[in-house]
Amino acid sequence: MNKFQELGLNSSILKAIEDMGFESPSEVQEKTIPILLDEETDMVALAQTGTGKTAAFGFPLIQKIDPKSKHTQALILSPTRELCLQITNELKNYSKYEPSLHPVAVYGGASITEQAKQIERGAQIIVATPGRMQDMIRRKLTDISRIEYCVLDEADEMLNMGFYEDITSILSHTPKEKNTWLFSATMPKEVATIAKKFMRSPIEVTVGSKNMGSTNVSHEFYLVNARDRYAALKRLADTNPDIFSVIFCRTKRDTQKVAERLIEDGYSAAALHGDLSQNQRDLVMKSFRTRQIQMLVATDVAARGIDVDDITHVINYQLPDEVETYTHRSGRTGRAGKTGTSMVIVSKSELRKIKSIERIIKQSFDEKQLPDGKDICKVQLLHLANDIKNTEINHDIDEYLPNINKVLEDFSKEELIKKFFSVEFTRFSNYYKKANDLAPVSGGANVDLDPNSTRYFMNVGKKDGFDWMSLKDFLKDALQLGKDGVFKVDVKDSFSFFNTENSETDKVLTAFNDFEYQGRRINVEITKNSNSSGGNGGRRRKGRKGGGGGFGKSDFKSGGKGRSRSKDGRDSGFKGKKSKGSGSRGKNIENSIKRRKSKK
Ligand code: ADP
Ligand code: MG
Repeated sequence: MNKFQELGLNSSILKAIEDMGFESPSEVQEKTIPILLDEETDMVALAQTGTGKTAAFGFPLIQKIDPKSKHTQALILSPTRELCLQITNELKNYSKYEPSLHPVAVYGGASITEQAKQIERGAQIIVATPGRMQDMIRRKLTDISRIEYCVLDEADEMLNMGFYEDITSILSHTPKEKNTWLFSATMPKEVATIAKKFMRSPIEVTVGSKNMGSTNVSHEFYLVNARDRYAALKRLADTNPDIFSVIFCRTKRDTQKVAERLIEDGYSAAALHGDLSQNQRDLVMKSFRTRQIQMLVATDVAARGIDVDDITHVINYQLPDEVETYTHRSGRTGRAGKTGTSMVIVSKSELRKIKSIERIIKQSFDEKQLPDGKDICKVQLLHLANDIKNTEINHDIDEYLPNINKVLEDFSKEELIKKFFSVEFTRFSNYYKKANDLAPVSGGANVDLDPNSTRYFMNVGKKDGFDWMSLKDFLKDALQLGKDGVFKVDVKDSFSFFNTENSETDKVLTAFNDFEYQGRRINVEITKNSNSSGGNGGRRRKGRKGGGGGFGKSDFKSGGKGRSRSKDGRDSGFKGKKSKGSGSRGKNIENSIKRRKSKK
């Protein structure tokens, strides 16, 4: 007999489960579903992220709701719009064979009238974010006075986000004699308070130990000088070519900056933070979900509830202020039975924090050394070789083959391989040939990555009509420096950066000492961190220069799928889920080759 059947689920749900490819219940599902089906009770269920809590409440809820009656019978509160949509979607999947059941999502940033209309048509289950739900109630667009079930999902996150008052107020509009189910990854004081205040002798189900992070996640830290954080990040990315990761920064500004630099350097990255419009955020999330973005740089708030499986690495670019936040960050990986790695880039002064995190997550960190240039080149070369091996041949090139063959006819296979790899790889290896060891140097003095050049800030940018080429020309003219005298020109919206050799510093500063351009004073300063901003070391980006600001896929990377690493010996909790789709990395390479060609 099917394990789900043993839990007491009915045939329409079992059929939906089969369609979804779930083979057996996870531990939290096994523990909660029979109780919730059998008893009219309150419940507190604690289980780490990615263990299938949605289905743990979703299956019983759907079975208990009366689809024939149109009034709202259940309210699910969840912290973010993303989660809200995701839960609604899951519920729709679960109730696929129960066509008269209508879960409706209620969240901010979309038309409230449209949502009200959907509710009016009959929504037995409302899945809502607390803020929008409050609005709905205030405007009397919904009636939750007769609900029988209330689910507080990701309760710790909701409270983290300051929804306590909203939740209290919403619950005051619900009947006393209902069942409240609280699901959470951790059990901080605030969650315990809510449980006490709003629930009657809840049954407690705990999977793993309370407040424990995911055991599928291993934790590593890399000790570097604070100023080498970005270079360290690049190495971590370069040594994991198939990385699919969330990178956490502390502020919106850092988030934006790190993402911009990664894009500049040819990685497929994007920023996610609160200054983006909802629309932009949706776009970014969509690109991330579909793997067009390999590295999502995010603030803690914006990343809450990101629920993307298969994230291979969480990178803490900076450690969070609150130790608990670390648990949430690392919980973004190691989901759905996969394993993941949480990496921390840490400076000496923060080492103490690592210790306190270890105490809370009850797991220890491995101290790791950053890979050196040679290690990285080896990884990248092998990766490239594998990409070539897996590339599907594009027969569009057949007609050009005779000519190509003629050009290359004198070379042996070995020679051709060497040449091909040299074309593809020289920039990369050059970057790392020059790069220094990033381990912190005692005494605080740090070796500059590019000690011979100076980086400048300049107060003109795209708004003034410049792009990198025109600005480079402009600078070459103004400074009378030779062909390659100005380099690493990086034009942002209202300002830009560029480099010259150190020996030219005086010349540059003098030239712009009192310089007007179209009636405006141009200001040029040396940036404090001369080697840091915008160097596109390593990544090859032939013919492509940063612009566009989007999340273009790196020419170098395949960005394909098939990356689910699995470290053996770890128990997954899920037994087999059909993997969704499989990528053809070949295409990407073909595309990138095409693109390079067309730029020539
Ligand atoms: P949580 O809420 O605990 O963080 P989710 O409910 O979001 O976790 O589930 C994480 C992922 O696991 C989802 O992609 C979900 O479809 C999948 N999943 C849930 N239950 C099972 C199961 N029994 N077998 C396989 N996959 C499952
Ligand atoms: Mg969840």
